[in-house]
Amino acid sequence: MTVDKYAILKQFFGYTSFRDGQEKAVDALLAKQDVLGIMPTGAGKSICYQIPAIMMSGITLVISPLISLMKDQVNALVQQGVSAAYLNRSLTDAQYHKALANAANEQYKIIYVAPERLESNSFLRFALNADVSLIAVDEAHCVSQWGQDFRPSYLNINKFISKLNYRPVIGAFTATATHEVKSDIIRLLQLNNPAVVTTGFDRPNLFFSVMKPKNKSETLLKLIRERNNQSGIVYCSTRKKVEEVCDMLNQKGVQATRYHAGLVDSERAKNQDDFVYDRKSVMVATNAFGMGIDKSDVRFVIHYNMPKNIESYYQEAGRAGRDGEDADCILLYSKADVSTCRYFIENTEENESLSPEQREFFKKREEERLKQMVFYCTTSDCLRGYMLKYFGDEHKESCGKCSNCLTEFETVDVTMEAQKILSCIIRTGQNYGVKMLTDVLRGVPSERIQKARLDRQSTFGIMHDVKAFEIKYIIEKLEEQEYIISVGAGKPILRVTEMSYPVLRGNAGVKIRKARQLKSKTVDRTIKTENAELFEALKVVRLYYAKKKGVPAFVIFSDATLADMCRGMPTTDEAFLSVSGVGTNKLEKYGEAFMRVIREYVKDHESDMTSTISRNQKG
Ligand code: ADP
Ligand code: ZN
Repeated sequence: MTVDKYAILKQFFGYTSFRDGQEKAVDALLAKQDVLGIMPTGAGKSICYQIPAIMMSGITLVISPLISLMKDQVNALVQQGVSAAYLNRSLTDAQYHKALANAANEQYKIIYVAPERLESNSFLRFALNADVSLIAVDEAHCVSQWGQDFRPSYLNINKFISKLNYRPVIGAFTATATHEVKSDIIRLLQLNNPAVVTTGFDRPNLFFSVMKPKNKSETLLKLIRERNNQSGIVYCSTRKKVEEVCDMLNQKGVQATRYHAGLVDSERAKNQDDFVYDRKSVMVATNAFGMGIDKSDVRFVIHYNMPKNIESYYQEAGRAGRDGEDADCILLYSKADVSTCRYFIENTEENESLSPEQREFFKKREEERLKQMVFYCTTSDCLRGYMLKYFGDEHKESCGKCSNCLTEFETVDVTMEAQKILSCIIRTGQNYGVKMLTDVLRGVPSERIQKARLDRQSTFGIMHDVKAFEIKYIIEKLEEQEYIISVGAGKPILRVTEMSYPVLRGNAGVKIRKARQLKSKTVDRTIKTENAELFEALKVVRLYYAKKKGVPAFVIFSDATLADMCRGMPTTDEAFLSVSGVGTNKLEKYGEAFMRVIREYVKDHESDMTSTISRNQKG
């Protein structure tokens, strides 16, 4: 068996080694032990059940919540030489029954099915007579009401399985790691002593960055233009913002499309396809977009607004760079985002069955999560480290690959400023927000201040020589270090905590870290290949075949695979097969066409490249 799984990995998927966790999951399923796989987006969950599916006798059913995902996954499998099909409502009745008849004739090794199908009689009849050896549940967190993606139809999975003549082995996979979700999956899918496979949450190819731009739309445009024609997602917090930002980008000549729950199904599907098939390079969307988006070559995810918690952020940002090549995750933070999130927390449509106490409990929990999200935006520590710590993973103090690690900070003593700010909060009755307090401290004689008689306070104007943004920055840091808390929704007010009193009494000092300068101004945004020109030429061939086969470009070859071709410049079948992501089937189908381009390139550059080529051909 051990030999076989590696052969299958290379033959069908083109890879020579398993990633973290994959082998354990494959081995368990092959030994007929249930599996619960908790792996972040891009870790490579599909291979965990696809390899056992190919190796086991009989059929594997993959239960997946999203129709678009099924189509892409099946396309990809077929390109790799695996017989696969899907059954969902995008098929006509005739197509559905034909596929079902084919399935009954054992023509498919892997069948993707929507959870709703499990209830239909025709499908159950098929399943009762078929040799189902494995059931893989993708996005398994959908079974849990605690998650954000609860799907009632997922509760049918267990009912369906109990109707079968025997129980197949079950593999459940998700990227959501919270304790509640995990135990719900085990309980509701009735996993039997599952092998739990968890991998670290780190995604080393992602660059994390937080920016606090004065003008978000200008900054966004600049970021997108710097990434000329690369695929990217821009997340906004509301439908209205999506419309606004998408219009703005289109007016400025960016090929952008949009996605949110307010669009009719057909338009949503079309826009999604435009993005996946590279007809539009940028997708502007609410968080409705993404679960199960299988586009592996997304090169950047920009958050135009801050999401409401780190879980959401990491999941959305994680849609960048699933192919393992470098990608950017940039968050455009503004204080106003915090109020929007608070509003969502206050006004969420909560589960009717919750008691007032439970509701209160959840609200508190959401507020706590929001606070952690804000700290991510304001911290000067390593951003990657911050998130890994949040998920309970190990991390280094500095990753060298986030905007904070690339910024030089200096530690400054702000005890005096802190004393002024804290005493201003107390003397004005702990009743005001950041804006008002800053104005009082700077001595701005606004109408509101005069009306409230705050201009008669002893702290009025005591920081007249400090710029407003600096005061706000210090307040932010005081909140991060918990000298201050903000309370209330909408426009929160600031209160001091127990920790403030020693500072006010002069018994404790306060230090903060302030940015001095960026260590390296430019981070290279282009795919790192030794031969960018060849990379572009290979992309043209890829696009040709993608159009011809009606599949997205990354289904033919991923960016990572093209980059590997540029490094090795293979010109023989054997060399081509050694490229990461090239299996036997793809060698046969596309090898010649890609090698023709490589040969031409080699010929054109012979003089300046002789040394490189001889080196590569030897190795
Ligand atoms: P997930 O479902 O966990 O988000 P996928 O299964 O879609 O991830 O895999 C993400 C990407 O990683 C795909 O492009 C896949 O081809 C690639 N991949 C998976 N396993 C390996 C491996 N062992 N070696 C190299 N690339 C891999
Ligand atoms: Zn870092």
